Amino acid sequence: MITDLKKYIESTSNYFQEKFSATPTLVAYAPGRINIIGEHTDYNLGLSMPSAINRWVIVCLRPRPDQLISIISQNYHDKMEYTIGEAYVPSHSWQKYTYGSITIFGNQFKLDKGFDAVIWGNVPIGSGVSSSAAMEVALMNALRAAYTADIDDLALVKLCQRVEHEYLKVNSGLLDQYASQFSREGKLMILDFNQLSSEYVEADMKDWAWILTDSKVKRELAGSKYSERVQETANALEEIKSKNPNVQGFRDITAADLELVTDPVQQKRIRHLILENQRVLDAAEALRQMNFEELGKLLTASHVSLRDDYEVSCPELDFLVDTALQLPYCAGSRMMGGGFGGCTISLVRKDSVQKFNTFMTEEYIREYDIITEINNYQLVDGAGSYTC
Ligand code: ADP
Ligand code: MG
Repeated sequence: MITDLKKYIESTSNYFQEKFSATPTLVAYAPGRINIIGEHTDYNLGLSMPSAINRWVIVCLRPRPDQLISIISQNYHDKMEYTIGEAYVPSHSWQKYTYGSITIFGNQFKLDKGFDAVIWGNVPIGSGVSSSAAMEVALMNALRAAYTADIDDLALVKLCQRVEHEYLKVNSGLLDQYASQFSREGKLMILDFNQLSSEYVEADMKDWAWILTDSKVKRELAGSKYSERVQETANALEEIKSKNPNVQGFRDITAADLELVTDPVQQKRIRHLILENQRVLDAAEALRQMNFEELGKLLTASHVSLRDDYEVSCPELDFLVDTALQLPYCAGSRMMGGGFGGCTISLVRKDSVQKFNTFMTEEYIREYDIITEINNYQLVDGAGSYTC
């Protein structure tokens, strides 16, 4: 296990002991994720290329003999407590994720006894690296272990997705939860949302590094235009299906079908989808051939498509991408995650990362008076749990 993760588990475990005067009996953890390319493709049953990163949400848990569920958020210095079966109304958003996860799990696997738990995490919140999925996946892994529930990893991440749908009212796809559960150290996955399967590719980046630049614009998916996009592509698919019997689902759509979409906005959304899926395949090929210049170009093309066709960028993200692209040692850059804020991902020469950081920081302060945060994450294994 990575040293950092061990250290974080130890401190979360110590905190548990301090608060509950007993040691936890099990630990679960789940990482945040980056996504190289393939954005807004998950709920459209397309392709993407994510990996988990070395930032985690950790859950330390100890079963109780009674029916009480008592959970402390170490980050928010907040506690929620209720008896199984009792109507509980979560107030803070961390409680919604927590209560949602427990309730959805509990509907499938009857909870006979309660538990004490502490949740802690260092996945940046609202930055586009998916702290919410890390939280759901960590908690769901903890519950699976605590109640020895017979559920496989894929079914488990689908339960996590339901938390977002039912308790946060965000109709998100499966990218975040899948990446958090299934990633492998040092690898990227080519994730096919139509098959719900993934293939791993070696992410040996040679002289290059993936650099994340945080716009610090908080992206509240629930309040954003996310659901609008889900609806737009779904409507476009229905129209195409009604006019072309060969199209059964998103993946049957080809460029020739674009003209079947009457609404020009919906047409742009579908164009993004078709081309973005192709870019994921092209990026996988570029990666295999270690053609990093080509990989960079695909990243930038993805950004243009997300900005102009899918319209999920924002001025701050566009500025960060344009600024990065001025630099000769940056091969490509794009917004990452749901959009409307969060961070960009850029492909930068390793020997110039320091210069890149300085330039981006200075330019962003000059334009927006915001201090960005720049990260170069490690690609790590997905979620896990163990008994202590
Ligand atoms: P992100 O892009 O990071 O997933 P979201 O808005 O979807 O952003 O989710 C962020 C929410 O997830 C937080 O507001 C909080 O409710 C929950 N969350 C994330 N990390 C933690 C944590 N360590 N402890 C408690 N809640 C967390
Ligand atoms: Mg989220």
